[in-house]
Amino acid sequence: MPKDTQSDTPVLDAVLNHVDISDDARKMLKAPKRRLEVSVPIRRDDGTLAVFRGWRVQYNDVLGPTKGGIRFHPGVNLDEVTELARWMTIKCALMDLPFGGAKGGVQVDPKELSRQEVERVARSFVREIADVIGPDSDIPAPDVNTNGRVMGWMVDEYAKITRAHHPAVITGKPLPLGGSEGRVAATGQGALYVLQEWAERADKSPEDVTVAVQGFGNAGAHFAMLAHEAGFRIVAVSDSGGAIYAPDGLDPAPLHEEKQKGTDLDQIYSEGSVKDSADHEELDPEALLELEVDVLALAALQDAVTSDNVRDLNASVILEIANGPVSPDADAALEDAGVAVLPDVLANAGGVTVSYYEWVQGRTGERWDADTVKDRLKNRFDRVTPDVFDRAEQDDTSLRHAAYALAVERIAAAIESRGDSC
Ligand code: GLU
Repeated sequence: MPKDTQSDTPVLDAVLNHVDISDDARKMLKAPKRRLEVSVPIRRDDGTLAVFRGWRVQYNDVLGPTKGGIRFHPGVNLDEVTELARWMTIKCALMDLPFGGAKGGVQVDPKELSRQEVERVARSFVREIADVIGPDSDIPAPDVNTNGRVMGWMVDEYAKITRAHHPAVITGKPLPLGGSEGRVAATGQGALYVLQEWAERADKSPEDVTVAVQGFGNAGAHFAMLAHEAGFRIVAVSDSGGAIYAPDGLDPAPLHEEKQKGTDLDQIYSEGSVKDSADHEELDPEALLELEVDVLALAALQDAVTSDNVRDLNASVILEIANGPVSPDADAALEDAGVAVLPDVLANAGGVTVSYYEWVQGRTGERWDADTVKDRLKNRFDRVTPDVFDRAEQDDTSLRHAAYALAVERIAAAIESRGDSC
């Protein structure tokens, strides 16, 4: 793994050295609890066998069953999954959820596969990891290139293996299979709450805040739509197909609707791009990162901003909707330059928070309506977000360090209360 990518262990290391916790807790937080590597065989449509590599990493389970998504991506590897599992551990603890952190990945480009082949990958992966997941042990969810439909196949496969219904084993499911209201928009909704807290503290009204959004998948598109509704000015959006620019602001809803067209039972990934919109000026996706905007929202993949391009950025605030979109070196450069980074472990935690609500509903058999979910999500962010901003002020540190400190203290308290179980 190149030095200036992904790993934010420096942040965890720095925080572990700074906070007042026991040595036992410090040691336990440094290493993953369990890393499972599996082969994921599928029969291709042409009759040949393909075998992909897959991983499930459970980083730390002191606060509860481990929780985290599964991604399908050709570049995913064990280091990346471990890093993502560590971030989930911090994220769940920060949000005060009764969960540890995990992540899974299959090294595959699902866009090269037919819908049926993607389904076989999903089911095969669940068969391989079935022994280590469960409603009380480890609970997967969607991540990059996996969505509600993929979760539906996974929960169905798990039910076949165990010969019992376990709706709480997987979250992010479609509504008819026990999914939760509000789960699809949850990551974008949480990101908006964090942005609103920043705007309030900076004394900015939304109408005066310009926002460029890199990434128009589920999280980016819902964030853009909700932020537009809340009055923020969305001036540019991009996806893997291109970017568009509208200095006076644009309405992201029709773009989302257009992109969603054609995604039906035969096709699980959208083939459209925001740049197909005839109404807006086209922009080079790289140039989107360099726009003079108040807020640059990064909702694509990790390492969108590294030491190679950090000096080209002109935004005052970075909103991390993806996991790890700013590399550690770039993060330090932004801190030196006085650019506020609203960190992923807080800004994208809406997804896992509503996953928790889905898990609770799955275990109790209750169905909450959309308003109940939204109110609970808002209350949770109203409780956690100010704590992160206040802690950063109090410690004179970045919001990321503050978020990590709060999370690490919570996990350490649990390790210390548990006693000597080594
Ligand atoms: N993949 C999402 C994340 O990175 C959601 C995880 C979950 O809901 O468990 O936070």
